[in-house]
Amino acid sequence: MDGANHKTEKSQRFFNLAKEVTPGGVHSPVRAFLSVGGCPRFIDHGEGPYLIDVDGNRYLDFCCSWGPLILGHADPDVVAAVKAQVERGMTYGASTELEYELAQFIVSRIEAVEKIRFVSSGTEAVMSAVRLARGFTGRDLILKFDGCYHGHSDHLLVKAGSGLATLGQPSSAGVPEAITQNTALLPLDDEEALQKMFANHGDQLAAVVIEGIPANNGLLIQRHDYMRSLRALTEKHGTLLILDEVITGFRVGFGGAAEYYGISPDLITYGKIIGGGMPVGAFGGRADVMDTVSPQGPVYQAGTLSGNPVAMVAGLTTLKKLSSDNVYAELENRNRRFVSNITSRLANSAVTIAGVASIFWIVFQRDLPRAASSIDSDGIAHYNRMHEMMLTAGMYLPPSGYEVCFLSTVHTDDILDKAAETIAGIIGEEAHQ
Ligand SMILES: *Cc1c(COP(=O)(O)O)cnc(C)c1O
Repeated sequence: MDGANHKTEKSQRFFNLAKEVTPGGVHSPVRAFLSVGGCPRFIDHGEGPYLIDVDGNRYLDFCCSWGPLILGHADPDVVAAVKAQVERGMTYGASTELEYELAQFIVSRIEAVEKIRFVSSGTEAVMSAVRLARGFTGRDLILKFDGCYHGHSDHLLVKAGSGLATLGQPSSAGVPEAITQNTALLPLDDEEALQKMFANHGDQLAAVVIEGIPANNGLLIQRHDYMRSLRALTEKHGTLLILDEVITGFRVGFGGAAEYYGISPDLITYGKIIGGGMPVGAFGGRADVMDTVSPQGPVYQAGTLSGNPVAMVAGLTTLKKLSSDNVYAELENRNRRFVSNITSRLANSAVTIAGVASIFWIVFQRDLPRAASSIDSDGIAHYNRMHEMMLTAGMYLPPSGYEVCFLSTVHTDDILDKAAETIAGIIGEEAHQ
């Protein structure tokens, strides 16, 4: 995994061609490597913990498709299940036993999920959960937090406004201000601001939406107390708590962040792992709330490919493997060992590696932030500069310092022990620049 033969000619050629037919050459913006520079690698195939690009370079993959691949690439059981299903047809647009099985598997194991509905992405899951919360409560206002990502539906593309305004401003062109005026925004980890928001607007709030453990803008691990008061406040004001577990669901333990904090949300949204690498999302929760969804209730929600049988079988096979005894304890141990292997080689340098379950985040600052505003942008610049060095050393990290890294069950201690040395070397070099 040394950088001696590292070539990017083919990736460069494909990237140039792609730019002619696709905006920025990519189908999701961060893949264009704009923050880290360098050429986005075009992938030929994945193999366990490795990615192999079109130039034949092999990388240890710490991006894991942004979270879904908790079993690594092309897990043999998932592949076999998918193959068997594909031969029976890709989609029927009608009900199947498979979608019942996956729904039942989840409902019987996740306490807060009494009923569930499948969609095709995390964005769709949160968008539908927000509509459902508004329909159920008869209220319009929702609250989200600065530093949490919930997909790209209009109501959730907000950033902090100027001055004292707590209402969000559109964070993207094309989102009307009239829409974001129903989305209030608060910083994370600010109990006082939360209390004040509920004192003033609690009875107008349909829902609070928060990431289980915010992991889309750094890894902003929240205090248990804070999450518990959020639960208590929402309960008191008849506001639904939507825990967005698109990353944390089946990642931070089978029970996700709800279990991690010991809270019971009204609604949970899933994505990523739940589809075992296929495009799936889901929203679920209290039966009385879920029964407001059409055709049972008046909140409209639908999808041509929802409950797609190939995706259902990939998800079901993945979740079954994850529900066996020691998977999460083992993943957590490996992550802890890996992170401490790196940090022990970085004595005195101003780098922190935050780890939780099988997620880690490398941040070039001494203290771990809990709110978006505490992230040091100079530190992010350090990360971005070292990214290409990591690639040439065979380490595929996500192409932005705000993104977190993931381990899978096939990232073994042996592989990680060697990687720790390489990664620590590069971080150490960068930290002294
Ligand atoms: C990835 C993510 C989403 C969006 O999911 P997509 O499948 O990309 O639409 C929403 N919420 C969280 C917490 C996520 O991590």
